[in-house]
Amino acid sequence: MSTTLDRTVLPQIDRALAEPGWLPAMPRALRAAYAAERLEQCRLFNRRMLLALTLIFDLYWVNEFFSAPEIVSQSGLLRFGLMTPAVLLFTLLDLRGWIGRYYALGLLVLTLMPALISALLCIRLAPATASPLDIGAAPLILLGTGMAMRMPPRAFLINISATPVIFIASLLYARDVPLGEAGSLVLIEVSIAAAGIGFNLQLEWRDRRMFLLNTADQIMRGMLDAANQGLVRETMTDALTGVANRRCFDDTLAMFWHHGIAAGGAVGLIMADIDHFKRYNDHYGHQAGDDCLRRVAARIGMLIREQDVLARYGGEEFAILLPDATPEAVRNVAERVREGVEQLCLEHAGLMPPAIVTLSLGYGCVSPHRGAIMRDLVAIADGELYAAKRGGRNMAMCSYAPEA
Ligand code: GH3
Ligand code: MG
Ligand code: MG
Repeated sequence: MSTTLDRTVLPQIDRALAEPGWLPAMPRALRAAYAAERLEQCRLFNRRMLLALTLIFDLYWVNEFFSAPEIVSQSGLLRFGLMTPAVLLFTLLDLRGWIGRYYALGLLVLTLMPALISALLCIRLAPATASPLDIGAAPLILLGTGMAMRMPPRAFLINISATPVIFIASLLYARDVPLGEAGSLVLIEVSIAAAGIGFNLQLEWRDRRMFLLNTADQIMRGMLDAANQGLVRETMTDALTGVANRRCFDDTLAMFWHHGIAAGGAVGLIMADIDHFKRYNDHYGHQAGDDCLRRVAARIGMLIREQDVLARYGGEEFAILLPDATPEAVRNVAERVREGVEQLCLEHAGLMPPAIVTLSLGYGCVSPHRGAIMRDLVAIADGELYAAKRGGRNMAMCSYAPEA
């Protein structure tokens, strides 16, 4: 559906479905979408019915050889020279999608055509006494088009009222119809028209309800999806820093790992821990500590590559996952992050002598297909991180033997 689905339409849909009446009122915002959808649904059906009804209408011509031979040539011309080519042309244009907004008008003209042709033939016969079969066919034409065609309501109403008028007028003009017979003919036409209107009203009622229910369903599903996405985002995000949380880290590591197995790339991991953060908290307080964590996370986020994922592993420890990694790339990112945080120059007066906030980092790069397990990668990066701490902090370490 092309309409932007907006939840504000929901109460209008509820009201339209609940209110009694001939038809559920279509909310203004949905009218264009409904008309387009309804027309699209009816097109294929209309095409086939139009061809079938035209074929039947043409078959009356055969009967005229016996019942009204004096109009056979005019009748043949109108049927095979006008009506049938017009229907075939309309069908072809419709199949090509070239009719566009003239569809309803074209359909209306074509469905009125049998009544007009019958009327012309009837007038042409006057004052002959033979009863042309076309005149007898007119109520059936009305029945056929009224029941089988799905037109826009206005076109349908014009069709269903114009056909009997044309029929009755031509009959009264051409033939001397006794009053009783004329009354019966009028009643036949009116009852068929009434049945056609009732039938179409029921279809319209059902179509509108279905459309409204489907639209409400779509809107609610959209709302649910958005809420779910929000929830998923929340369950995957660290509330303090806004980066991925530990759960997201675990999922992403598993995803990169399996991608590595499938595609053959290595997975890199950098563990980064803020140095002497306890003393930072002790000196500045926990709120300042929180602020420091946020600024460090934001800084790291700016320094990693687009495909890398930064997560808060826990406390003042961050992890960076690198898919399709090479040891060089991991080393470069680790060094860039260390330098980047150092360049923030966040004062750390809790140290003696006062210094700045720095990171210690340990990293590793493992090819999953070599029989390694995921935990190895974490253990390697973790081990290197502690080595960096032992080595004096503010450094990025990787002492494991690089894979050949
Ligand atoms: P090291 O250089 O060896 O890592 O020393 P450290 O002080 O950074 O490490 P330690 O594990 O002793 O202390 C970590 C501190 O991080 C203690 C804890 O209060 C602080 N911390 C952990 N999570 C948070 C947090 O969410 N907010 C704040 N403000 N502090 C946190
Ligand atoms: Mg620390
Ligand atoms: Mg720590």
